[in-house]
Amino acid sequence: MIALREVSFAYPGGAFRLSVPALDVAAGERVAVVGPSGSGKTTLLNLVAGILVPASGSVRVGEAEVSALGDAARRAFRIQKIGFVFQDFGLIDYLSARDNVLHPYRITDALTLDADTRARAEALAEKAGIADKLARRPKALSQGEKQRVAICRALLTRPSLVLADEATGNLDPDTKGAILDLLFERAAAEKATVLAVTHDHELLPRFDRVIDFRDFRQKAA
Ligand code: ADP
Ligand code: MG
Repeated sequence: MIALREVSFAYPGGAFRLSVPALDVAAGERVAVVGPSGSGKTTLLNLVAGILVPASGSVRVGEAEVSALGDAARRAFRIQKIGFVFQDFGLIDYLSARDNVLHPYRITDALTLDADTRARAEALAEKAGIADKLARRPKALSQGEKQRVAICRALLTRPSLVLADEATGNLDPDTKGAILDLLFERAAAEKATVLAVTHDHELLPRFDRVIDFRDFRQKAA
């Protein structure tokens, strides 16, 4: 599902360098990514999602060589195939929780917002325990509720790959478990692959495999 080969990346003007000789994740696998703060975990997810493009090397997701696509094609691919739960949620302040969940359907012609999609959004929100919060704007939601909205948005498109960046950070232990349950249950139902950055070591046994980011330690410039 994911294959990185000889990937290198640097932010313009920055000293940070990420190099990943090889990284493979099989379809349906649930993989956790751990590593110190600033080691490049978010950068890796952004490279897999095609939000960032490597300076050299290749990033494949499913059939697509993401790193070789143009901007528009990468964006379309990401919206359709990838569900991304961002570290800071990435919710849109002026939209209700419901409209945040539906948002992927409003930003590409490739997805059609029909009655079935709306019904699935309500069902997903119900499972996530936020059905009664959908009319609220993000600022009227708790951290855990925002997290759930972000997860519902990421899952509604039935992505074949779910990328989650600290999706259980800032939550109490019970909520963490419930959020991961939701993510895994929905991912399994859609046979999706999960690549999740986490600091929660107690959650690691629930993944099929753990990638330790110190293995891709950035090289000095
Ligand atoms: P992690 O998610 O493991 O904490 P990140 O991938 O966010 O790490 O960041 C890796 C390094 O890249 C850090 O040194 C960070 O400061 C730097 N960095 C992240 N985003 C940018 C950016 N947009 N521009 C320049 N440097 C960045
Ligand atoms: Mg990060």
